[in-house]
Amino acid sequence: MEGMVDIQIHEAACRGCRMCLDICPTDVFAFDEGRGMATVQAAEDCIACLSCAYLCPSNAISHHQFHAVKNFYRDISFCRRMERFL
Ligand code: SF4
Ligand code: SF4
Repeated sequence: MEGMVDIQIHEAACRGCRMCLDICPTDVFAFDEGRGMATVQAAEDCIACLSCAYLCPSNAISHHQFHAVKNFYRDISFCRRMERFL
């Protein structure tokens, strides 16, 4: 779909903690009980807040082809650099 955010969950990295399901404001994720991992069920609803990617303890979520929303974009590499000072 045009304009849809491409979200990838790295299967080998996901530890099934479900934190991405809890944090996502638009319920993009579902949980695959059989594989014990999160899956993308509604990528078209993603608003590219990047909360999930920031929160994921396994750094398993990546986004591509999204347009940064002014004042709502979180630079993950910058946030990770800042973490050491918090
Ligand atoms: S937050 Fe990361 S490790 Fe946890 S379920 Fe989601 S993708 Fe998997
Ligand atoms: S970037 Fe935000 S809206 Fe998109 S899947 Fe992650 S938490 Fe949900």
